[in-house]
Amino acid sequence: MNTYSSLDDLSPQDRDLVHAARAAARHAYAPYSGYAVGAALRTQRGVVYHGCNVENAAYGVVLCAEVGALAAANVDGAGDVVQVIAVTGRLLATDAKQSIAVVTPCGRCRQLIFEASQRARHDIRVLCCNHDLSRIEETSIMALLPSGFGPASLGMG
Ligand SMILES: [Zn+2]
Repeated sequence: MNTYSSLDDLSPQDRDLVHAARAAARHAYAPYSGYAVGAALRTQRGVVYHGCNVENAAYGVVLCAEVGALAAANVDGAGDVVQVIAVTGRLLATDAKQSIAVVTPCGRCRQLIFEASQRARHDIRVLCCNHDLSRIEETSIMALLPSGFGPASLGMG
């Protein structure tokens, strides 16, 4: 895992991606958790798709930011060419500058990103960011979900 404390250490494309993830978090609907999350993914074609968490009074149907971004890519026929995904967020009750914790995908989202990696036939880079983008941890879905259950587990692929 690589950890960056300056956006200058990222490629221009990755810098744009983490900014897109943060911009997406502004649209989060998170009245219950108070935790706004944004995600942005980039495909091999260079197209970026965004998502934000969308909560619901029925807590079980909450949508994570990564789900929104992956679904948007899939709708556009790009669910099998995801290359990298950035995730960021913050607790709304705290000052944005105090949101120093890096956001990592939850277990369900790791499973969804893993499936996208299997469809793409390569590992997917994951950029886990804190809200002000002063700390970015670069990892991959294979590192976040080793020995994942996927299409091969069902004799597919
Ligand atoms: Zn999630």
